[in-house]
Amino acid sequence: MTQFVLPAQPTVSLPTTGPGRFPVRRIFCVGRNYAEHAREMGHDPNAEPPFYFTKPADSVVESGATIAYPPATQDFHYEAELVVALAKGGRDIAEADALDHIWGHATGNDLTRRDLQAEAKAARRPWDMAKGFDLSAVVGLIHPGPIGDGAITCTVDGVVKQTARLSDMIWPVPAIIAHLSRLVTLAPGDLIFTGTPAGVGALLPGQCCTVTIDGLTPAVVTVL
Ligand code: MN
Repeated sequence: MTQFVLPAQPTVSLPTTGPGRFPVRRIFCVGRNYAEHAREMGHDPNAEPPFYFTKPADSVVESGATIAYPPATQDFHYEAELVVALAKGGRDIAEADALDHIWGHATGNDLTRRDLQAEAKAARRPWDMAKGFDLSAVVGLIHPGPIGDGAITCTVDGVVKQTARLSDMIWPVPAIIAHLSRLVTLAPGDLIFTGTPAGVGALLPGQCCTVTIDGLTPAVVTVL
């Protein structure tokens, strides 16, 4: 038995619609995967292949949580996203085989310190502190099985802020899995946040943000 010099951290996990929990290994996020959002951030949606950033596994927040307004920001943003949960990993996964690697799907909210992201972009620095901070990855219940096309919506205190179709993604899920698996070896337990539609904006203290996707349980978070 391995002897640790400190208590080992428990495996991060998320609830599913069934009795078992989904063990989280890594969290990958796709940037600019909806054309209107790429344009609202000042980019040409047709100009580049998908790109990625990551969040630590222990940044996950279960739906229904109340979180503190994060430190070091004055422009805390919501981003409604479809989250893909992998059952199988690998490298150089063919697009035609990609869907076989999925365990299920969830609603997600890629919480962002937009001011730190803008500073990082301007200074050509990494996005980690803008994207991968504590409690930055809200995930709803993970539903096993496939998902069809459907609406993705974000509301803040009941007001609709983002709405699109999953089929509006520039890079569909199989293309993302295939592309990402050429950059890193994917593994069971990996989560992929697949990008957000247009309409990102601020989340203020006291507000409640709900992400809904047809066929999935909403991801709800309240900010103190
Ligand atoms: Mn995002």
